[in-house]
Amino acid sequence: MQKELNDTVKKIKLLIETDKNLGIEEYFLSNKNKFNNSDNPVFKKQERLDGLRKIVLSCKKCKLYRTRTNLVFGEGNPDADLMFVGEAPGRNEDIQGRPFVGRAGKLLSRIINAMNLKRSDVYIANILKDRPPNNRNPEEEEIQACTAYLIEQIEIIEPKVICALGSFATKELLKKDEPISKLRGKFYNYKNIKLMPTYHPAYLLRNPQGKKLVWEDMKEIMRELKNEV
Ligand code: URA
Repeated sequence: MQKELNDTVKKIKLLIETDKNLGIEEYFLSNKNKFNNSDNPVFKKQERLDGLRKIVLSCKKCKLYRTRTNLVFGEGNPDADLMFVGEAPGRNEDIQGRPFVGRAGKLLSRIINAMNLKRSDVYIANILKDRPPNNRNPEEEEIQACTAYLIEQIEIIEPKVICALGSFATKELLKKDEPISKLRGKFYNYKNIKLMPTYHPAYLLRNPQGKKLVWEDMKEIMRELKNEV
């Protein structure tokens, strides 16, 4: 009992420390409490995401469940207008069970904040829910096993705009083979949702000159979201 309590306190401390690093300084009541009414559509979405998370937790469709530390299902507003989709969890994400919490995640948080949004306004997920060992590229078989879960997340959340981060997410959602440098910068239709491909934040850490182009893409997204209101 005491050990469980200590572990929980450790986890909460790590969560707060990570959030601080990601620029999150305030907490609000969770959506569950905020919408504590089973007739509320947002509550229903959260419930459906929780149900899906349980299914993914016990998924053995590919080998990655054997080597992961934690499932990285995704997090954010279950009713988000904007959803970011990355590639796969890295080391930090695997340790914490949360998407985009390492260096690339810190940059993604800064991009989100620059759009006048908070991480809790958007939803962040990946193509793969488990970390590939040593951050190797996802294998085709793993992508095929996991993409159905992402598609279901998108169907539940019903975002107005999806931002695909990097070539894996773009290629998988759009089924297009051109390089991300050719695809980025314009909207595509993904099941009647506007999809904007852009460079992955990890690419930007290595190639900061790409930040200007990503900001152009984010401004397009902001314009699109404003027009939707
Ligand atoms: N890179 C990704 O694509 N996703 C994460 O969650 C972290 C890093």
